[in-house]
Amino acid sequence: MTPHYSIDYCPRCGAGLLGIRICGLGTDEPHGLVVCDECESIWLEPDVTTPHQYPDASDARCPKCSDPLWGPQSRWATSADLVQLGWQDRVDPQLNGEPDDHIA
Ligand SMILES: [Zn+2]
Ligand SMILES: [Zn+2]
Repeated sequence: MTPHYSIDYCPRCGAGLLGIRICGLGTDEPHGLVVCDECESIWLEPDVTTPHQYPDASDARCPKCSDPLWGPQSRWATSADLVQLGWQDRVDPQLNGEPDDHIA
């Protein structure tokens, strides 16, 4: 699945988009992640100069809450999610995917 909002191309694999995900939906502590849609590198901040990590490829988990990276508590961020995270200024508009009204 393609991210709705991305900050850049992945500096690790050079092919993926660094999509913004929100995780912890339905909890008191929703949090943002930056995830490459190709190699699954994860950044905890919308800044690729910060350290990144690779999840276990067979059982990818969120580094913050340890729930499944692709689980139901997580999704590619919507525009409202970006505002909640305070990351709306980090998006590169040229990399935007589908508009919000196409989110399933
Ligand atoms: Zn990548
Ligand atoms: Zn999480």
